[in-house]
Parts: sequence; structure tokens; C-alpha cells
Amino acid sequence: MFSAKLALKTNSEHQTTIKISEGVSVGGKDLLIIAGPCAVESLEQMEQVARHLAAAPVQMLRGGVYKPRTSPYAFQGLGDAGLKILDAVRQRYNIPVVTEVMAIAQIESIVAHADMLQIGSRNMQNFDLLKAVGKTNKPVMLKRGLAATIEEFIFAAEYILSHGNPNVILCERGIRSFDNYTRNVLDLGAVVALKQLTHLPIVVDPSHAAGKRELVAALARAAVAAGADGLMIECHPQPEKSVSDARQALALQEMVELVHSLRSVAAAVGRHVPIVEPQRQLAVA
Ligand code: PEP
Ligand code: MN
Repeated sequence: MFSAKLALKTNSEHQTTIKISEGVSVGGKDLLIIAGPCAVESLEQMEQVARHLAAAPVQMLRGGVYKPRTSPYAFQGLGDAGLKILDAVRQRYNIPVVTEVMAIAQIESIVAHADMLQIGSRNMQNFDLLKAVGKTNKPVMLKRGLAATIEEFIFAAEYILSHGNPNVILCERGIRSFDNYTRNVLDLGAVVALKQLTHLPIVVDPSHAAGKRELVAALARAAVAAGADGLMIECHPQPEKSVSDARQALALQEMVELVHSLRSVAAAVGRHVPIVEPQRQLAVA
């Protein structure tokens, strides 16, 4: 159907599994659950998140340090200081981390301090940035553009793949539509279509799709039922105090409960929510 070469399945069984760190991968039977705040705000905040979510368990932490904000007057992220916080928590709790790369100049330091690069929706068609992350070998999570078609999304992935990096994970995070009751519309039809078309793992972000915390857990379960390989969910020790995206942030305990609620849905579709590895339990104890 599309003329993409590298992103498309060659047969119906074709599915790529991407290793993110020792013991953590995405695309296999185990779901990858990524959680954390919209933005890294302090070491204390990230430590609280890491400690609380070890028991969930989540396999990976998120936290933006370079933030693409609609307003230039809004908090822009802690930058390099935030990246150091993320790396400290990653090492102390033995958990991989993902953070957004907004510019080519940020790639080198993010590659050194994080386990996965995130390309945000606003940069899905920043072709020079896609080419540049394509020249690294870090896993790249590519978020669907705010109004990108499935074809445009696949071609954006193709940019990264064709520059030499085979480790691309797609992320459906909702698309713009006419109704603003939800922040965006979670396109689970696209998840099903992408699972059929491509061999790349697909993570669903119900937080940015819904924009309201009370909608997140049910959308997360629906995403798993639709065949998502993983989830990325925003949560915060004090959700209402989040410096960004407060309205969609779950409390840490709600995040733990969400993960537990996924188990039966995952089992119904032949997937599994991994348990916490002993090394991580030791790091947290
Ligand atoms: C994010 O995940 O931090 C983010 C900014 O999301 P998006 O690019 O999907 O808006
Ligand atoms: Mn956010």
C-alpha cells in the first residue's frame, strides 16, 4: 500500500523486539510500561516516583527535561540539570529512562544519559532531527504528529530506519479533532492498523490523548486490548502541583492500581505485565 521499505511487515508474523536495557524490551509478549511526570522538576520528585513505582511495577521512567511548550512563557524544562537528575535516578534505582530530544544539539548528551530518545509529536516531521537520531543506535520512540496520517507516521519512522537505526518504537498519543472535551482523540484504529502494517513495536500514551486523569486508566486497558506493545502514562507525587499537564497526571498510587488492572486484560490478549526484577527490588530496598 505505501512505498515505505523498512517499516512495513514482510509477512504477518514479522514483529520486531527492541532491547532497551538489561532485562527490558518492547515488542515481545511482555508489555512495556513507562511512567513518570510530564517534566522532571527535582531529584526528590523523581526519587519518589522511582520508589513508589518499583512495586507497580513499571519497567521504565519518563520525564521531560527539554519541554516543547505551546507558550514561550511556560516552564521550558530543567535542561541539562534535569538530565543529570534523570541519570542519577536511573542508576540509583536500576531503571531505564526516556526523555524528549527537541534539537540535534541535544542528542549527544541525551544518548549519554538516557536509554531511549523520544521524538515529540511536534517534531514528528522534523526531518533533520529524524535523520540525526537515525545515525545513533539508541531506541527512539517516535510520537505521532498532532494531525499526522498513518502514512506520514510510517514515513517519519522510515526516515530514522533508513539512516541506520533499526530501533524505532511508534507512539500513538491522540490526534486533533473537533471536540475538545478530551484533549485529543485516542486513535485505537491506528494502533490496530499499524500492528497490521508495520513490524515496529507500538506504545500508546493515553495521558496526552485524554488530557483528563479520570479517562486514562480505561483508555490504557483499551489500548492493551487493541494490541499495543506498551503504555506511557504521566503520573506525579502531587498531580495537582505538576508544573505541566497537571490535569492529566495520575497520583502514584493510581498508577500502581492501573498497572494491576492491566493484568487480566493483558492475559486475555496473550500478553503479560512483567514482574519487577530482583535487582531492582534490591536497589529500592
Ligand atoms: C510528552 O510526552 O512529554 C509530550 C510532550 O507529548 P507529545 O509530544 O505527544 O505532545
Ligand atoms: Mn505532558
